[in-house]
Amino acid sequence: MTTNSFMTHLECSKCGVIHDADHLQQLCKECAAPLLVRYDLQAAASNLKKEDLLRRPANLWRYKELLPVRDEQNIVSFGEGMTPIFTAPRAGEKAGVPHLYIKDEGILPTGTFKARGAAVGVSKAKELGVQALAMPTNGNAGGAWALYSARAGIEAYIVMPQDAPTITRNETAISGAHLYLVNGVISDAGKIVGKAVPERGWFDASTLKEPYRIEGKKTMGYEIAEQFDWEVPDVILYPTGGGVGLIAIYKALKELQAMGWIGEKMPRLVSVQASGCAPIVKAWQEGKQESEFWKDSATVAFGVNVPKALGDFLVLEAVYNTDGCAIAIDDADTLRAQQILAELDGAFICPEGAALYAAVEQLKAQGWLSGEEKVLLLNTGAGLKYPNTVQVNPPLLQPGDELPHN
Ligand SMILES: *Cc1c(COP(=O)(O)O)cnc(C)c1O
Ligand SMILES: [Zn+2]
Repeated sequence: MTTNSFMTHLECSKCGVIHDADHLQQLCKECAAPLLVRYDLQAAASNLKKEDLLRRPANLWRYKELLPVRDEQNIVSFGEGMTPIFTAPRAGEKAGVPHLYIKDEGILPTGTFKARGAAVGVSKAKELGVQALAMPTNGNAGGAWALYSARAGIEAYIVMPQDAPTITRNETAISGAHLYLVNGVISDAGKIVGKAVPERGWFDASTLKEPYRIEGKKTMGYEIAEQFDWEVPDVILYPTGGGVGLIAIYKALKELQAMGWIGEKMPRLVSVQASGCAPIVKAWQEGKQESEFWKDSATVAFGVNVPKALGDFLVLEAVYNTDGCAIAIDDADTLRAQQILAELDGAFICPEGAALYAAVEQLKAQGWLSGEEKVLLLNTGAGLKYPNTVQVNPPLLQPGDELPHN
């Protein structure tokens, strides 16, 4: 069965050169920039009604006409998508931003939003006949792509930093993927993959080196519009590593505007990074269009430890075009925010997501937020995936002991 995808072609994000969408592509053949998937949005708008969506299962494939997979048989899915948006009233009150919302990607398969990119990326790779793929990762993407690849029958070669969390190592390995650790950061892993791929004939599934992962992640933007009843929130904060999620949300909202499904208003997009790895924040502060490699990067929020993102110029463009901003958060503030959200509102979210709350506090203190806005935090993963960020030392009782009073 056809998905009725309205995909028409791939377009270079830098030089605009058009590439065929029904053959395997990596970067632009002219200028080596990432390729973006384009659709006939006029046709989509006249064939598709918002109400049609409501009758479909609550997962990201409800937007199949606006995704790149053409044949439903190629869809590799665990039912990912349509994650809940809940309020954080007490933490919001404390920060002086009472209309605070969290979209919780932690409940997705593999515990992070990387499942969205893997679902669409692996499905399209399967459709285009890929038999083996390779990628560098800080852990979460590797786990997701390994498991979706296993389901698709695709062989996966994953290279991650030696200090990536054990849990991401384990989920990658149990899928039967070929897992390698590198004594370095993600860019070192990327160089190793980049060298192996042409020699061995694998598909390079590195961030933005294939056009389809971003399409999976853009469904966050569609869902936000749908969940807010097609009235987007005023501000969206996003923890930025490679920046795919932020680029993708911006792309999604532009597409919905072109279809007339949302109005002129765009949320102000905020790129949040860790102080120990903040190349995009630095570029934004200096008014630049591209970032520089960040040396000796380090942060507890390992998902955003990306010293130089291929799509940095697209992240910056989204931030500039929406009157957003970029802000760096110290790990200590991130860990404190993680605790506040759990204590005040019962939300145990990942450090990457928690950094967004610390950013809200600081942006409110600076006056960048007035406190009247509807502010959405995009929590990219489950706190459970980061057991070591919480240190506890509960009293040890012996059988027969009385419970201490305190
Ligand atoms: C990968 C990752 C990020 C960063 O995502 P990008 O879209 O590549 O910027 C943020 N949070 C978590 C938990 C991640 O795994
Ligand atoms: Zn190009």
